[in-house]
Amino acid sequence: MKTWIDVEEKYYMYAARRQPIVLVRGDGTEVWDENDKRYLDFTAGWAVNNVGHANKEVVQAIVNQANTLMQTSNQFYTIPQLELAQLLVDNSCLDRVFFCNSGAEANEGAVKLARKYGREHLNGAFEIITALNSFHGRTLTMAAATGQPHYQEAWQPLIPGFIHVPFDDIDALKAATTEKTCAILLEPVEAEGGVITPRADYLKNVREWCNDKGILLILDEVQTGMGRLGTLFGYQSFGVEPDIITLAKGLGGGVPIGAILAKEHAALFVPGDHGSTFGGNPLTCAAARATVQYLLDHQVPDRAVTMGKRLRTGLDILATEFECVVEIRGMGLLLAIQFRDNIAADIVAASNEAGLLLNPVRPDTVRIMPPLTVAESEIDEALQLLTQVLGKTVPNG
Ligand SMILES: *Cc1c(COP(=O)(O)O)cnc(C)c1O
Repeated sequence: MKTWIDVEEKYYMYAARRQPIVLVRGDGTEVWDENDKRYLDFTAGWAVNNVGHANKEVVQAIVNQANTLMQTSNQFYTIPQLELAQLLVDNSCLDRVFFCNSGAEANEGAVKLARKYGREHLNGAFEIITALNSFHGRTLTMAAATGQPHYQEAWQPLIPGFIHVPFDDIDALKAATTEKTCAILLEPVEAEGGVITPRADYLKNVREWCNDKGILLILDEVQTGMGRLGTLFGYQSFGVEPDIITLAKGLGGGVPIGAILAKEHAALFVPGDHGSTFGGNPLTCAAARATVQYLLDHQVPDRAVTMGKRLRTGLDILATEFECVVEIRGMGLLLAIQFRDNIAADIVAASNEAGLLLNPVRPDTVRIMPPLTVAESEIDEALQLLTQVLGKTVPNG
C-alpha cells in the first residue's frame, strides 16, 4: 500500500527530517494522525499554535474574512490590517508596524530599517552585531545574521555586515561595537539554539550600551513573542524597551504572518523602500487580530506563567529521578531538557509512540513548547508520558 510517506519520498524535496507521522487534525493541545491515533502536541507547530489548534475564535475570523475579502495588495487600505496594527501598537512599547509573511522576512525588513538608520544618523554605519548560537531564519541575509556555521557554510559568499559575539556576554558585545555598528540584533532567549536564557540583567545592559552608542536594539521575538515567555512580548519579561521587534510564529494563530514593530525614530520606511504583495492581507490579519484579541481577553500570557511553572516543576523532578538528564532550561512555556548523551532522537521516537510530540532541537536536547492554552491535566499527562518514555529509553535512568 502506498503511504503518504512514500509520496513525500517521491515528490517532495528532502528538506525536512520528519517524524513518521501524518497529522490530519487538531483541537487545542491534541492532534490526531491518519490512523486516528491521538497525541499531545508539545511542539505547537514550532511555537506557532499558542492559542491551540482549531481555536474557535480564530477559525471563525478566518471563515468570515475568507467569505468577505482575502487579498487586495497594499495599493488600498484594508480594515483587518489597520485594526491589527492598532492592537499591536497599543499593547506594546512600539509605535508603528509593517506586516509581512514570515519570521525571516520580518528580520530582513528590520535589517533594512537598521541600515537606513545607520545611513541617516550614524555616518553610514551598517554593521549589525548578532549572537553566536542564534537563529534568525533561512534567507541568505538571515543565514549571515544567524550565528551558527552549519546554516552558513553551504551558501557562501554570505551577505556582509554581520558580526557574531557570544550570547549573554556584554563585554564581548562592547568589544565588537565600532563606528561601523548600526544595531544589535538578539533573541531574548536563544530558542532554536537549545533554549538558552540569558542572565536577568543582560538585556538591560545591552539596552544601556545601545543608548550610550546611539545604536538600535532589535529583538527577534519571532519565537518569544505572543505570550510564549509569560508576557505578551518577551522584552517585557526582561524589563527593557527595544527600538525594533520582529514577530511571526505565534502571531497568526497558525496562518503565515510576520510583523516588524518599531519606535518612531526607527520606523524609517517611506514609499518605495519596502513592500510585500501578501504582507498585511485581510485574511492573515483577520486571523492575527483574532489571535491577539484571544491572547489578551483570556490572559493567555499569565496562563503561560502558571502552566510553565507546573511543567517546570514536573521536569525538575524528572531531572532528579533520571541521571540521563543534565539540565532543564527555559522560561514560560518555552522549555528544554538537555540529556547527558545524544539521545534526543531516541526520546522523540519513544514519545511519538507514547502519544506525546516533542521537538529534538539539538542531538542532546528536546524543546518543549505546548500551546499556551494547555490544560493542567494535559501538563500532568505529558509529564507522566515523559516519565514512562525516560524509563523505557534509558534503562536504569
Ligand atoms: C523561527 C524563527 C525565525 C524564522 O522564522 P520563519 O517564519 O521560519 O522564517 C526567525 N527567528 C526566530 C527567533 C525564530 O524562532
